[in-house]
Amino acid sequence: MPSGDADRSFMPFSLPWLNEKEIDAVVRCLEGGWLTTGPATAEFEKHLQAYLSAPSVVAVNSCTAALHIAYTASGIGPDDEIIMSPMTFCATANAAVHLGATPRFVDIEEDTENIDCERIPAAINAKTKIIVPVDFAGHPCRLDRIAEIARGNDLKIVEDAAHAIGSEYKEKKIGSFGWPTCFSFYPIKNMTTGEGGAIACADDLEFVARCRRLSLHGISKSGWSRYTEKGTWYYEVLEPGYKYNMTDIQAAIGIQQLKKLDEFIARRNHLASLYDQAFQDIPEIRCPVTRGNIHHARHLYVIQLVDLPRPLNRDRVIEQLREFHIGTTVNFIPLHLQPYYRDRYGFQPQDFPVATRVYQRSISLPLYPKMKDEDVLYVAEQLINIVKS
Ligand SMILES: *Cc1c(COP(=O)(O)O)cnc(C)c1O
Repeated sequence: MPSGDADRSFMPFSLPWLNEKEIDAVVRCLEGGWLTTGPATAEFEKHLQAYLSAPSVVAVNSCTAALHIAYTASGIGPDDEIIMSPMTFCATANAAVHLGATPRFVDIEEDTENIDCERIPAAINAKTKIIVPVDFAGHPCRLDRIAEIARGNDLKIVEDAAHAIGSEYKEKKIGSFGWPTCFSFYPIKNMTTGEGGAIACADDLEFVARCRRLSLHGISKSGWSRYTEKGTWYYEVLEPGYKYNMTDIQAAIGIQQLKKLDEFIARRNHLASLYDQAFQDIPEIRCPVTRGNIHHARHLYVIQLVDLPRPLNRDRVIEQLREFHIGTTVNFIPLHLQPYYRDRYGFQPQDFPVATRVYQRSISLPLYPKMKDEDVLYVAEQLINIVKS
């Protein structure tokens, strides 16, 4: 049993990168006195729209909110079915359940861990309304194929791009394809606003207006257009919406983070390539794959451990890495194994055999722009020692 280096400080699995730019921006926002949705949120939306080459952007307070609103504005209701992979965070499916809809899981590709497009047609029935590609770890799904299946079956697409801000598919940014695409600015995502999210969508005035309205109680006007000098007091509640609006404090952070995003992604790709090199001759460690037609935002670096010498297994490797002060996690525990989904729909692990198998052998290694090259080499060295021990 290897023993840890007691002097080394703990290396978390992920960390945001903030500095005086974000701090100053928040202070300016507080001094300006307008804290909730207002000019900074409008500016953040404009910058995001330009960065993504998206026709329209609506900022909200989480990706979970973005998914809930995008499903609702796409017309999802009770008894509808939503196709998604089980290899995702629970928000993708929970938002469907909140609308009375049923998440219909489709197994994944073993290498990218994205939805296996060739299994989608068999999951489509009269109740199916949308397909939700989840760009696992930032690697875009096979969007051309998904768009083709959606067209052929009269389905809509809502993309869960919580991992994929800055990713490209066939040289186009995720978020620029016109269908609603949901981003997350949770602290450990590729960029942060503390908590936050956004929907990029087509320049469809009605759809955009509906998303905005749903993000603020279903009210016809924003607070900014009611309480400022030129504002008027009258407003109408057009439907029972939610309290999902982004605040200017969040947007102030986001404006600064977005300026750094490409640098973050370049750094993530560099660090990932160091892992790739370190593991290239280690058959027990399978590195993540990158298809040729994409640019990878590298939100996660997920390895799959194969043919480990007994009694070593994934869980023991995680414990041993912790002894070396290395934090890891597992993305994700597939949703069909989670008690709520398992019990409600009667799932067995073998219903989605690829997701179950990949889950049992996966570890997400530390990857974030603040990491030094030596940190990656340290993690790689300890991991190689563990699997070779
Ligand atoms: C993080 C995450 C979400 C939820 O994002 P929040 O901004 O925390 O609501 C949704 N889907 C996936 C795949 C995620 O990883």
